Amino acid sequence: MNLPAGEQSPAVEGLPSFDNSYARLPESFYARQPPRAAKAPQLLRLNRPLAAELGFDPASRTDAEWGAIFAGNAPLPGAEPLAMAYAGHQFGHFVPQLGDGRAQLLGEVVDTAGRRRDIQLKGAGRTYFSRGGDGLAALGPVLREYIVSEAMHALGVPTTRALAAVTTGEQVMREAFLPGGVITRVAASHVRVGTFQFFAARGDVDSTRQLADYVIARHYPELQGHATPYLALLEAVSARQMALVAQWMSVGFIHGVMNTDNVSIAGETLDYGPCAFMDSYHPDTVFSSIDQAGRYAYAQQPRIAQWNMARFAECLLPLIDADKDAAVARATEVLQEAANRMESEWLAVLRTKLGLQRDEDDDRQLIQQLLGHMQAQEADFTLAFRALADALEAREPMEVPALTSVFAEAGALAPWLAQWRTRLAREDADSAETAQRLRAVNPRYIPRNHQVEAVITAAVERDDFAPFHAMVETMADPFTEREAAEAYATPPQPEERVTQTFCGT
Ligand code: AMP
Ligand code: MG
Repeated sequence: MNLPAGEQSPAVEGLPSFDNSYARLPESFYARQPPRAAKAPQLLRLNRPLAAELGFDPASRTDAEWGAIFAGNAPLPGAEPLAMAYAGHQFGHFVPQLGDGRAQLLGEVVDTAGRRRDIQLKGAGRTYFSRGGDGLAALGPVLREYIVSEAMHALGVPTTRALAAVTTGEQVMREAFLPGGVITRVAASHVRVGTFQFFAARGDVDSTRQLADYVIARHYPELQGHATPYLALLEAVSARQMALVAQWMSVGFIHGVMNTDNVSIAGETLDYGPCAFMDSYHPDTVFSSIDQAGRYAYAQQPRIAQWNMARFAECLLPLIDADKDAAVARATEVLQEAANRMESEWLAVLRTKLGLQRDEDDDRQLIQQLLGHMQAQEADFTLAFRALADALEAREPMEVPALTSVFAEAGALAPWLAQWRTRLAREDADSAETAQRLRAVNPRYIPRNHQVEAVITAAVERDDFAPFHAMVETMADPFTEREAAEAYATPPQPEERVTQTFCGT
């Protein structure tokens, strides 16, 4: 199948044409819903390079005009706003109907590289799926999503992007009255595992198949004409998901709400709620205030990703084989492969973080030993890996400030460093080359949670957006050490540590 064909919207000066394939799917897939107009929208930030990539001409309009567009006040010609239907397992419990309760998919554009991308407003009012919610977003979560999603992109992790952030000039009621905002999100698509669950849970096999065909045409066109396309889809989606979570692990990212409705079928990081980067390394780290049991703790993420793929597999069973037992057997095999893939993807990214290009049997142990030292000494995850390049270049690695400032008892690390250097000697690269490679994969700057909180406080309490812009600009280049950015390489003092992060609602 091809994507449902239709007319592309006529070109308007400075704006992209829309080609809304999702809106051409049957009406049970969504509810049409224009965004509501904000009282006094103001543009906070337009992601100009991304805008240009999507076919917007950032110079064609004033900030006030962009503010009106990205608040939902001025409709984009060709957009066909809708709220997508989906279900989902939330913390293990199935909810048959969730859907976009505070988001409108405006439509799809084909970017300058030929990739089809969704443009979605989040926080622009109620929809058919809002249940008791107000359909709005507070400014804090808007800023957090903007900062963290753009940082993830710069770190090389597949993710939705932030195109714009606006303030609405209105207050939203949360634990207190807070300023309201809208974020414009760009995604390969917003189809989730939960979208499949929506139809599968209703026993609607035809719609499930239609969605699967749509996803294949849009995201996995290489599977068209495959002998067992739906089994192959399970395999392909799982492969992307495992690779994605391995990348999260490699940068210390904790998603916080890995519910099936937040798992993108295209393999992008989706829905930045109570997410955060880990400071000092501990596998049990949790930030989310709503994750009391640690279901989505740092080290649980690979296992949860597999659990989520099992839920996806369940949706596909009737498409895989008319015989249920046969379908289960085939899907189980694919899920087992995915588990193996998770392990190998994780090994691969951690090898890279140690500068290892060849595979050796003991590498896993070498990695685990380093993580063990980091955990025992409560070393900062990001700075510990970053220090390796300096240690490698130094004649006296144990005297390298980058290392001694991160490891309270750096001496305890000496045998490990010696072992690592011996291992590196078996690579076809000299130290300078390896150090350079290490600095290209181990970031110096990440959006640290206490600093994100400080950015939000400045914006919400003092109307001061300078820290927000500074942070976004710094995180665009996380790998190049520079004096002006060094404040972002500081782990929190004990009293600055943020242990809980609240949901995007
Ligand atoms: P999330 O926490 O963003 O993954 O959202 C989970 C579900 O709750 C989704 O169906 C959202 O659309 C819905 N939701 C979250 N916040 C709101 C809100 N303020 N108004 C309406 N629906 C919401
Ligand atoms: Mg969500």
